[in-house]
Amino acid sequence: MTADIIDGKAFAARVRGQVGEHVARLKEEHGLTPGLAVVLVGEDPASQVYVRSKGKMTTEVGMKSVEHKLDAATPEADLLALIEQLNRDKTIHGILVQLPLPKHLNEDLVINAIDPAKDVDGFHISNVGLLGTGQKSMVPCTPLGCLMMLRDYHGSLLGMDAVVIGRSNIVGKPMAQLLLGDSCTVTIAHSRTRDLADVVRRADIVVAAVGRAEMVPGDWIKAGATVIDVGINRIELPDGKTRLVGDVDFASCAAVAGAITPVPGGVGPMTIACLLANTLTACCRANGLAEPEGLTA
Ligand code: NDP
Repeated sequence: MTADIIDGKAFAARVRGQVGEHVARLKEEHGLTPGLAVVLVGEDPASQVYVRSKGKMTTEVGMKSVEHKLDAATPEADLLALIEQLNRDKTIHGILVQLPLPKHLNEDLVINAIDPAKDVDGFHISNVGLLGTGQKSMVPCTPLGCLMMLRDYHGSLLGMDAVVIGRSNIVGKPMAQLLLGDSCTVTIAHSRTRDLADVVRRADIVVAAVGRAEMVPGDWIKAGATVIDVGINRIELPDGKTRLVGDVDFASCAAVAGAITPVPGGVGPMTIACLLANTLTACCRANGLAEPEGLTA
């Protein structure tokens, strides 16, 4: 194996440490405590695990954590009323509605009901537009975490060829915008891309956000390229146990790449760290204070 392993777990711990220090200063100097409200509708087991872990880490960095767990059959009007109440609550600086929502709820309507200044997931249409036009916005947590790791490893990304595989609104598209913002030459690939292998082989940076286990083999990777694996896929092993793998075939890609993120322990931990960073940023902006350095795009 030749690639450097980009340790997202350690990096995320560092980011949480920085957030915690900043929160302590906000309390001491301004009497402010950033607050994050997480809304969970229904009993999706994976969502419950995410929400628990978000709540725990929010408290650990000294922020206020509020959880609203609503019944799966909650009417849309009730959810919108709760969001409106959180929008008005001065002790809450970040609001996150855990997705996916039950089928009877309109996700776009719900997300766009959140005050854009409190939209720490960065999914509100205003934040999408601000990011797309290179203005100050709330940036989606997963791509922000990927960007932080790339900047930390490379310093400047200027002029690098980047390929993002996947064009979802939550990962692929914002990731491409962020790389463009850092002056990469960006290609977005998707399920209809012709000769994906050839496209990926040209990249200095490959971000895989597809949701297909170990889809990218090592012989698609240019020697020395940096590979960021966003995918989280649970596969069943011959002995019946399961294991988490990414969208890239780690062993063969690590043999040719210059650097690579593992799964688990790469992008995943950075996502929650960036949620905390965004909540801190939102609190600073809401109070006209300087934003934390190095924790925003
Ligand atoms: P989506 O399903 O929304 O998007 C997947 C994208 O991959 C689509 O644009 C799709 O193309 C593209 N795609 C599908 N098959 C192929 C293929 N054969 N070749 C090229 N492109 C293909 O997924 P998300 O963006 O939400 O998530 C992607 C992965 O990242 C998942 O594994 C998810 O679990 C993980 N994830 C991890 C997070 C973390 O914290 N680490 C956070 C969020 C997601 P098309 O548009 O043409 O259909």
